[in-house]
Amino acid sequence: MKTGVNITFDGVLLVFIPRCFPSCVVVLGFSEKTNSSLFDTGGAALNHVTYFRPGTIDEAIGLLNEEDGIFSMAGGTDLVVQMRDGRKKPKAVLDLSSLDLGGVEKEKGGWRIGATTTMTELIEAVEASSIEELSIVAQAAGRLGGHQIRNRATIGGNICNASPAADSVCALMALETDAVALGKDGERRIPFKELFNGPGQTALHKGELLTAVLVKESMPPESARVVKDYFKLGGRSSLVCAIASVAAVTVIQEDNILSCSVAMGSVAPTPWKARFPEQMLVGRKLSREVISDAASAAAAEISPIDDVRASGS
Ligand SMILES: Cc1cc2nc3c(=O)[nH]c(=O)nc-3n(C[C@H](O)[C@H](O)[C@H](O)COP(=O)(O)OP(=O)(O)OC[C@H]3O[C@@H](n4cnc5c(N)ncnc54)[C@H](O)[C@@H]3O)c2cc1C
Repeated sequence: MKTGVNITFDGVLLVFIPRCFPSCVVVLGFSEKTNSSLFDTGGAALNHVTYFRPGTIDEAIGLLNEEDGIFSMAGGTDLVVQMRDGRKKPKAVLDLSSLDLGGVEKEKGGWRIGATTTMTELIEAVEASSIEELSIVAQAAGRLGGHQIRNRATIGGNICNASPAADSVCALMALETDAVALGKDGERRIPFKELFNGPGQTALHKGELLTAVLVKESMPPESARVVKDYFKLGGRSSLVCAIASVAAVTVIQEDNILSCSVAMGSVAPTPWKARFPEQMLVGRKLSREVISDAASAAAAEISPIDDVRASGS
């Protein structure tokens, strides 16, 4: 039996679900009139939002396919902001917090990161088990927002929000990653390079849920070094969206570049894989000149926009 809570507000909606009491839901409504300076809704009203918190994945998929205008919500750090300023107007919200979709696990051939794993949980799991393969994802997750945001923001939300600036996405794209989507017809895997269609648009079908990402294990030769790094350029050192970001995974043997994978954020409508610059690096001896050539090739291919954070040229 499906149950939902009908909520009607003229102002800002805050849904607070304490992690220690998963069945406890506290819904706070702030009248625009009394809190307009703190929560400026830009005139947008949040009316008649039906709130669902399913206990099983089957129930969640059922609701996603039955309910009109329903949006999944994980940490809500994008969705609630977008509802507040009127960019998204769900008729219903499907809270994923009670589903068993979190955690980082080793599986055959790689690592599985559950969609509702928060950035903090991801960083802690990678540190606790010294998961070298995922260190670049943890590094990128550590650059996302501040502590409070990282405690709520999930990897699935960062991916499905499909911002070209999404920190964890850039790092996952530099690794070999598949997204796992579940819908009423079952599960399918989507390679990361096919996942993003444009700003805010993914290849997930209507009624599908992202359940996990799978990061494939790489098998570099034993004598090779794997160098991974994530660099984020922001207007300040933390709590800021990327003006540009780069994630690079390079396999080097005796100063020869055996393979190189480079992904960039905030330089195109979707997170961007730098295929031509990668090809320029492979087989070359590592030097400043070689890196500089590849960087120039990348700069020639990207199309950053002018926005509040920076000019594109
Ligand atoms: C103050 C602040 C600072 C921020 N700083 C950064 C930053 O530095 N870098 C950065 O990348 N982002 C940043 N963000 C954006 C946001 O925190 C991240 O994108 C976050 O990872 C979103 O995760 P969430 O769980 O909160 O997603 P939600 O808001 O719950 O969802 C985001 C979108 O994904 C969909 N969705 C969520 N989970 C699933 C799923 N499993 N399957 C299908 N669809 C799903 C939702 O329907 C929604 O459209 C910031 C946000 C705030 C408010």
